[in-house]
Amino acid sequence: MKYIFITGGVLSSLGKGITSASIGLLLKRKGLKVSIVKCDPYLNVDAGTMNPFQHGEVFVTEDGGETDLDIGHYERFLGENLSKENNITSGQVYLSVIEKERKGYYLGSTVQIIPHLIDEIKNRLRNFANKNKLDVLICEIGGTVGDIESLPFLEAIRQMRLEEGEENTFYIHVGMLIYLKNTDELKTKPIQHSIQKLREIGIQPDAIVLRTEKIPDYETIKKVALFSTIPINRVFINPDLDTVYELPLILNKQGIVEVILEKLRILKYEKIDLKNWEEFVFNIKNPKKEIKIGIIGKYVNVKDAYKSILEALVHAGAKLNVKVNSILVDSESEFNLNDFDGIIIPGGFGKRGIEGKLKAIEFCRENNIPILGICLGMQLMIIEFARNVLGLKNANSTEFDKETPYPVITLLQGQENIKYYGGTLRLGSSPIKIKKDSLAYEIYKSEIIYERHRHRYEFNLEFKDVFERNGLIISGEQLESNLAEIVELKENRFFIGVQFHPEFNSKALNPSPLFLEFIKRCIK
Ligand code: GLN
Repeated sequence: MKYIFITGGVLSSLGKGITSASIGLLLKRKGLKVSIVKCDPYLNVDAGTMNPFQHGEVFVTEDGGETDLDIGHYERFLGENLSKENNITSGQVYLSVIEKERKGYYLGSTVQIIPHLIDEIKNRLRNFANKNKLDVLICEIGGTVGDIESLPFLEAIRQMRLEEGEENTFYIHVGMLIYLKNTDELKTKPIQHSIQKLREIGIQPDAIVLRTEKIPDYETIKKVALFSTIPINRVFINPDLDTVYELPLILNKQGIVEVILEKLRILKYEKIDLKNWEEFVFNIKNPKKEIKIGIIGKYVNVKDAYKSILEALVHAGAKLNVKVNSILVDSESEFNLNDFDGIIIPGGFGKRGIEGKLKAIEFCRENNIPILGICLGMQLMIIEFARNVLGLKNANSTEFDKETPYPVITLLQGQENIKYYGGTLRLGSSPIKIKKDSLAYEIYKSEIIYERHRHRYEFNLEFKDVFERNGLIISGEQLESNLAEIVELKENRFFIGVQFHPEFNSKALNPSPLFLEFIKRCIK
């Protein structure tokens, strides 16, 4: 088994996830079986309980994992579905060590970070790699070198060089060159220090990826190489790009694959074929048209909170050769939707901001503007329809108003007695049956589809008849239970609400059919 470990230095949000995903894609195109695991230093067991304001979107996997948003990058680049096991958190490893201790598993020994916690981390990485019969496991360590939190993960990967062998492990450090505008200079000192910090822990990187606003000259690269004790051909540049999807092409041109394979003694002579990826990037960079989509949300100050939706729009746009300008609109602000070509109401939790979203839905319904409601977005479409078309005054979801006279959205069956909030939503992928004579069927061209979920509330089917008689039809239902999965208004250009999250299934080269049709109808 070969392991590539990716660490980050100088500052966070460096694009380590994109770097990992890019290297994953390149190795996959080289014909290797690759996967990527993200190790997150926080003590949450999973990302499910984390506020999007702090950590961005919670990405949901097929098997119902609530994971770090980097797993989304990996899926979109690799073009495959990953699992909750692709995300290891400190919370998980501590929890399992402590549970084992309580069961008496350690036979009286003093349970310690070294060896017990570190062994738990190493076991998880090895088991994952073996179980999935990988050639190469890429392991991205979250956080920045120097943080207290990430030390156990760094210690684990340090030990793995010793145990797995020099030719089976490769360390890549991603760090930032600091650009000083006033003097027009790139500074290497912070990255030198972060490499020193890494060495203090006992890790000597094999390669460096330099994030930089400005392309460094040869002397700067040489300096980084010298201070890092790394041959100059192992220093790679990750410059600011028009689109993150260009990074695999950029890294490939710099020869990163050859460097990695040589060190890992992997003999693969196939040429990497990136033709369809190049076309995809070309389409993003050379659109024939532009459209403007408004995303009406409450986490608008955190760009990453709606990451998968933004990316799904890029994928669909690339396929249709149109640039989608996505504008995040604060649902609590005074907004004007007149110059938008389409509107998305994304998922969310809690009452704040919903009245603004309801106004946006009403505006789109009445003015026949394409609108896609996702999860909470669909629930709000139902509430808006109940209030303004059916005349059910104060209709609401019991999530926002327990006393509403018309509870058109209520808790899912089985959710009433839930006391713990971690991992207890309806999560992951499940089959949905689609009604034949519907826009949903036209879009998916299939009677059964699979999409991912993350919710606690649902459409109250007691109201189904009155809605359908008045034009809002349920065109998709959960296979076993009839729970409403898709609602649509026939007479509008595009008025669809979905209880699931189609954005999680959108891949760079394989856009979500729902987003694709949405964009098509926004263009017309
Ligand atoms: N808050 C709603 C629910 O729990 C919607 C969730 C979501 O949009 N992901 O059902």
